[in-house]
Order: sequence, then structure tokens, then C-alpha cells
Amino acid sequence: MAVDKTRAIVIRTTPFGETSSVVTIYCRDFGKLRALAKGAWRPKSGFDGGLDLLSTSQVLVLRKSSGALDLLTEAALESRFRVGSSLTAVLGGLRVAELLDALSADADPQPELFDVAHATIRRLSGWSGDESPLSALMVGFELAALRITGHGPVLSRCAECHGRLADAPRTAFGMLDGGTLCLRCRAGRRGVVSVSASALAALRLLADHRVAPDDVNLPPAEAGEVRGIMTTLLSHLLGRPLRVPATLPRAGRRARRS
Ligand SMILES: [Zn+2]
Repeated sequence: MAVDKTRAIVIRTTPFGETSSVVTIYCRDFGKLRALAKGAWRPKSGFDGGLDLLSTSQVLVLRKSSGALDLLTEAALESRFRVGSSLTAVLGGLRVAELLDALSADADPQPELFDVAHATIRRLSGWSGDESPLSALMVGFELAALRITGHGPVLSRCAECHGRLADAPRTAFGMLDGGTLCLRCRAGRRGVVSVSASALAALRLLADHRVAPDDVNLPPAEAGEVRGIMTTLLSHLLGRPLRVPATLPRAGRRARRS
């Protein structure tokens, strides 16, 4: 049994027995792990705050070789997710956790994915005031996570024939094809939406890892369109709707239970 030390983001916790927890963590060095944290909820446990959802902690993990659960023996809090006045930012943090879980396989390390998730959670933590930059921040994270896990959408040529795209006010985007489609390839396909030139330009910028999402100006109309495309794309990829919505339904409208 090896003892490993690494930085990890807490992406899910499930109560186990009276005082313990099964914790899903995304580790910088080992990828996603599920580990038992014995006595996590005792008043004086060694985990003090280090197992709160979206916290980043230095953890010690006893890796089990067989199919048994790993054992988390220590979690020293490095940074905690603070709830500010923006519920959209809180949902954003939960969305980061959902996508880390859904897009990664167990024990498949992707340090770049850890780094981009950690940076996004730090930006979202304690968010108060103007929420308009949150759209670009979240879509930037989602596109980075897709790129790193090998699911990045094709945005500058035809995803099917790799041919050039015509300059047009709207371009076809094939959800099942993973990106933009030329006029020829578009014909007769299912799961195709049409994306405006300005929303496509925004998607290309946000998909470019050299561009910081903070530097991308996303006016409300484009933000809505880009959000819609990403939500549909992620649902197609995961084979289910995302559990965490991008925003809460407006007051007065009842949320439908799924
Ligand atoms: Zn084509």
C-alpha cells in the first residue's frame, strides 16, 4: 500500500456510516479518486474543513491495490470556496465539480485539468456584484475541460470533411459531429443547430487556451447563444442533461423536477 501526498479538489462527498464520508477528489497528480475518510464528521477530526465541497486541500491517500476504496488519512485545507452574493457563481462552482467528475476517468491524471479547474473555482469563490463576466468564465472552463479530455469541438473547419467553412451569417454546428459543418456535410444530418457568426467568433476565442476568458467580452445576446450551444453539446457528450443548471430559474417560475 502506497501513501501518496497531492493537492486535490473535493468534488463530491457522501455520508458513510455515522461519522465517515466517501469523498470523490480530483487530484493534481493522480486524477479522480474515491476514498473513505474515516471519522470525517467527528468534531475534532483531522480533516477540519479540508473536505468541504470545492475546497482545495493537501491530502494524504493510502492507495489500495485491489478494487477496494482508497483511504484518505489527512486533508489540510489550502483554500475554501466562499459563497458570495452571486448564486450563479455558486452554480458555476458546482458545475466545475460536475464536469471534473463526468469528463474524467478514475486515476487518470490530467494536471492541466486540475490547474484550470482550480483557477476557475478561485475566480468564482466569494463572487459578488456584476455577474456578466461569469458566462465567459464558465464557457472558457468548459471548453478547456473538453479540449484537455480530448472532446474539444471543431470550430474553424468542417468537423466531418475538414474542409473550409464559407463566410456566412450563420454556420451549422453538428452536436453529434462535435463541431461546425460545411454546407455539403450539413445536409441530412441530425442534431444540427445554427450558430451566428458573432457567437462562433466568441466560441473560437474562448476555446483558445492562450486567451484568458476574462479578456473575452460576451454581450448578453451572444452569451445566451453560446451558453445554449455548450449546454446542448455537453448533454450530447454525457448522454444526459447536466445536473447543475447555468442559472437558477427566475422567481415566479417553478423549477420542473427532473
Ligand atoms: Zn464538410
